[in-house]
Amino acid sequence: MKRARVAYAGAIHGAVEVDDQLKLEDGRIVDESEVIWLPPVKPRTVFALGLNYADHAKELAFNAPTEPLVFLKGSNTFVGHRAETLRPADATYMHYECELAVVIGREARNVKRENAYDYVSGYTVANDYAIRDYLENYYRPNLRVKNRDTCTPIGPWFVDKEDIPDPMNLTLRTYVNGELTQHGSTKDMIFGIPLLIEYLSSFMTLNKDDIILTGTPKGSVDTVVGDVVVTEVEGIGRLVNTIVGDETFNVSKPLQPAEKLI
Ligand code: MG
Repeated sequence: MKRARVAYAGAIHGAVEVDDQLKLEDGRIVDESEVIWLPPVKPRTVFALGLNYADHAKELAFNAPTEPLVFLKGSNTFVGHRAETLRPADATYMHYECELAVVIGREARNVKRENAYDYVSGYTVANDYAIRDYLENYYRPNLRVKNRDTCTPIGPWFVDKEDIPDPMNLTLRTYVNGELTQHGSTKDMIFGIPLLIEYLSSFMTLNKDDIILTGTPKGSVDTVVGDVVVTEVEGIGRLVNTIVGDETFNVSKPLQPAEKLI
């Protein structure tokens, strides 16, 4: 089943899709244009993989990693389907990353890869934007690259694990203003879902509603204010996002380089 979290008429609701409309948990049927889409899962600890597709690592002129490169994301960065993402005026390169997001279903510690899917509740789609100007190290992307407010759209749907028999063979696509710009498959991940769960749970506890963003294939290109970016994972969903500029957020001056803040 596909489930969403939406705001409607002053409250937050769970919702399912019925005949291209949304049926709220209280029974009301509403049009999708009438709701505000929220992240389908309230994120807890969120992991993101760097360079987890060999073609993307190659595109960036890096050797494929030999151990998962993982960083964490704060809750400030998440927005739902059809949200706006801020591209700061001082950014010269901001790219999307279409990613399969794996949602953990229960506490997991020292899980072996052959049992890993027992700890997965389902999947959603993420767009892990990067402000490349601030990138100093692909192996340790800093907060100004990857933790900006609004820079990680996620959704629209949480899809039950049972509905996705082979998450390691799904097509990923990104469209910018309707044009296909990124095309790959989850089968090309360097470290697949079972290994990632084994790896992470070997040194820390995973909890319900933790999320793993599994990385992106090649094809990330610069995006600008006004672009409509659609990231799509086969069988899971089509996540729409619009890029807006500083004026939308009433930012009066660009962020200062770090050395001017200290
Ligand atoms: Mg990413």
